[in-house]
Order: sequence, then C-alpha cells, then structure tokens
Amino acid sequence: MPRFRFKPAVLLAVLLVGLAAAQAAEIAPPGDRGLLKLAGHYVKWGPLAYGSPAEITYAYLQETRSFPGARNCAAMAPIATLLTPAGITFQSFDREIAAAFRLWSEAASLRFVRIDDADRADIVIGAQAGSAGVAFTNVVQKPAASGPIDGIGRSTICLDPSERWEIGIDGDPKTYNVRYVATHEIGHAIGLDHQGRDHGIMGFAYQEKVASPGAIRLAQSDIDAVVRLYGPAGDAVPVQAAAQPGEPCPAAAAANATALAAACEPAQKALPE
Ligand SMILES: [Zn+2]
Repeated sequence: MPRFRFKPAVLLAVLLVGLAAAQAAEIAPPGDRGLLKLAGHYVKWGPLAYGSPAEITYAYLQETRSFPGARNCAAMAPIATLLTPAGITFQSFDREIAAAFRLWSEAASLRFVRIDDADRADIVIGAQAGSAGVAFTNVVQKPAASGPIDGIGRSTICLDPSERWEIGIDGDPKTYNVRYVATHEIGHAIGLDHQGRDHGIMGFAYQEKVASPGAIRLAQSDIDAVVRLYGPAGDAVPVQAAAQPGEPCPAAAAANATALAAACEPAQKALPE
C-alpha cells in the first residue's frame, strides 16, 4: 500500500477543490463526471455546447504579473524562474508542455497553438511568485447568457519554483515530472475537475507509475470527460482568426468574485514502501 505525505500548504487547496467536486457530484449526470463546475456551471473553451471543438492558444509568461482577485496564481513570475534553478532548458520544457497538450488533443477535438504574447493567450503558463504548493491552475469563468455551460476567459497555470522538477522520471518522489503535472493542470485549464485521488491524470495524487514520460497516458475517465466537452478526436476544429485580442479576463475576474475558481494540484506524492 502506498503511503502519502501531505503538504499542509497544498492540502488547503485540495480541501477547497474537494468540496467543490463533492457539490458537483450531487447533481452531475453520469456523463458529466469529471467536469469542472464553477458557480453552478460547467466551463469550456469554444462554443458553449457539449461536444463542440475548440482551438486554444497558450503562451509562457516572460515577465512578473499579478492577477488581482485570482484564487490561485495571483502572482506569477517568468517561467525562467523555475527553469534556471532546475537546470531545465526552455527547449526541453517547451517540448514537454507540447507533449502534455498533445495528450489532450489526441483524445478530443482540441487544437492547441503556442503564441508568444501572454496577454493574448488563452492559457498562460508561468512560475508561482512565492511558494504556494506544487502547481495550481486558475480558471476565469465567462458567464453565458443561458445554458448549463459557461465560457472560460483565461486559465493560468503556475508551477512552484521552490519544488524540484524533472524532465525524466527518476523515481525520486520529491521531484515532479513536468509532463505529468502539466497534463493534469491543462486538464483543469480546459474545464476538467479531479476524479478522486488516484483516478487517471485527473486524480489529485501525483503519480510516478511509469518509467518514462513517453509512457504517460490519459485514463479512460480522463478521455470520457474531455470528449464530453469537446467531442472525440477527429472532429473538425475551427481555426480562430485571432487569439481573442482584448479579452477582458483579469479585469473581469477582479470585478466579479464569483467568476473565479480554481483547481489545485497534487496534494501528495505516493512514496514507495
Ligand atoms: Zn488538480
């Protein structure tokens, strides 16, 4: 039996998200299992209908930024803040992040496009400014006029530079694999919630059950959830003319506290016996 080590700073976030997940589970039809519910609504990118494809842009944060009112990732630093002490090159990190996005785009009708301008990107990836825990995602909700699904205005993913990060999988439970954690956080960023502790990529316990990053896979539960939102892989994904310039996400978030929510990251690592 694996034992778990709880990190107090992260545990708080897990409890918050755990509560939200429990509330969602009471009323979510079986087909909606694993979907992130914020203020009573599921959230997704693209058209606000189940099974509709989306193109989503992402960028790496290159400067220190604050996102007032955000529950998670309220203060972020350039991703280099994490890479430099970890001895990870940007090229390696970018390759692993692309692989993490690809796991989702191979499962559902999603296209991810990396752009350089973090101000215009749908998903922004950076370092936490100040240690808060392994990794967090903040999802800004964009309320729809009607219907059960709201839009996502922006998602931010922040990784803790005070933790130890790795590109490979060395079996050291105190070092976090970039691809695994990124895949989990991207799941939140596109509208997915935890599915228990150990269930698939969206289980909230960090796992190192594979020997190499190339062996990281989505579980069927992850696939079912993402397909529910975006449809199966192979459906045509509309190409955006532009990456929604001027999207009022951070300001809207600050003005509307109920539009914020969050997701957390690995609360614990499984330790070998
Ligand atoms: Zn999580």
